[in-house]
Amino acid sequence: MIGAGPAGSSLALRLARQGRSVLLVDGATFPREKTCGEGLMPAGADELRSLGLAHLLDQGAPFRGLRYRLPDGTRAESDFPAGQVGTGLRRALLDEALVSACQAEPELEVRLRTWVRELELPGDGGSLPRARVGEEWVEAELVVGADGLRSPVRRLAGLEAPAPKLERFGVGGHFRHAPLGDPVVEVFVGPGWELYTTPVAEDVTNAALLTDRARLEGLRGDLEGGLRGLLREAGGRCEALAAGESLHRVRALGPLALQATRAHAERLILVGDAAGALDPITGEGVSIGLVTSRIASEVIAEAFAAGDLSARALASWTRRRRAEIAPLARFTSALLFLARRPRHAARVIRSLAEAPGTFGRLLGVAAGTAPISSISVRDGVRLLIGV
Ligand SMILES: Cc1cc2nc3c(=O)[nH]c(=O)nc-3n(C[C@H](O)[C@H](O)[C@H](O)COP(=O)(O)OP(=O)(O)OC[C@H]3O[C@@H](n4cnc5c(N)ncnc54)[C@H](O)[C@@H]3O)c2cc1C
Repeated sequence: MIGAGPAGSSLALRLARQGRSVLLVDGATFPREKTCGEGLMPAGADELRSLGLAHLLDQGAPFRGLRYRLPDGTRAESDFPAGQVGTGLRRALLDEALVSACQAEPELEVRLRTWVRELELPGDGGSLPRARVGEEWVEAELVVGADGLRSPVRRLAGLEAPAPKLERFGVGGHFRHAPLGDPVVEVFVGPGWELYTTPVAEDVTNAALLTDRARLEGLRGDLEGGLRGLLREAGGRCEALAAGESLHRVRALGPLALQATRAHAERLILVGDAAGALDPITGEGVSIGLVTSRIASEVIAEAFAAGDLSARALASWTRRRRAEIAPLARFTSALLFLARRPRHAARVIRSLAEAPGTFGRLLGVAAGTAPISSISVRDGVRLLIGV
């Protein structure tokens, strides 16, 4: 297993608990900061509970829903349906706790500060794949690439899809401030940029900017100053962050939403962002990684039981993964369509402000707890056209 982010470490845990012997490798040491909005959707929180890590949720800050805000002051706000809550959870905490849980499993060996730089994959001839783990070549029955957005495993396996034409980048940091007492994720939609603020503690908020290359280039050289400037421009509760103490170096990441042609090959699967990342506009990547790692563990169990780890047998992973994330992928495309048309997006947000029922149903899908069929045609029209 190459990569110990949420996708890799949760899958490693599940496989070890099935009785498989697993080697989990990551070049980083934990805790580490990761550029991420850190909003864990209810479906992701459920997966943490199923892994026996419910206590982790107490270390984050619950949020009851989502608010969109426009420069002219328009706000559309909705709670998750049925009293569900999301959790603002720092990746430094989440990822370290998952890695620690892995270290406590007897069947699981964890090697940190160890990069995988070479990979030899089998043809159809029945040989086993090998990876150079640090200085040592290691053979395995199955390689799992869980190595994130830019996935070297995906590249080495020749599974990289062309990058999206419209590039987007993320910039993120944490700011300490006086308590906000406002437990929602807020998205300020500016012209050509969106600013997500997710409370992760009473007095600490994550600020994540999503924007295009031109704006990112304008911020280069002083990412923190640039992020503070946009927080000031967004106003409202963002002003408290703009004036707050930055807790670490502000970082940028991208281009985002890189894809794989498929998530399997002979004796290899890709999971999490390595298998294809959605644009973070819906704040789902961690939840998708946790939910789909459960599906991957089922596919792997079936493949081992049948004694068949061929690309043909593992193709069901690509199919099941795609089916699982299809509703969110469609929702993400709809939001990106709007993000590229700020005037149109403003009309839609105004329309959602007047139709809290529609917004609530959309949020149920985004939360990963309601089927796409819960969105009516009327809701879809309102989302896309704003009438
Ligand atoms: C700006 C921004 C905002 C976001 N907001 C949210 C949000 O609010 N909610 C949400 O759920 N998601 C959000 N996401 C998405 C989320 O961050 C990702 O989907 C998530 O991190 C993917 O997890 P992963 O385990 O697949 O990969 P990662 O978390 O990236 O982990 C991959 C691991 O692989 C290791 N690795 C890489 N290469 C090698 C190698 N060669 N050898 C060994 N180890 C290696 C890395 O060190 C890393 O630890 C956001 C993303 C961005 C960029």
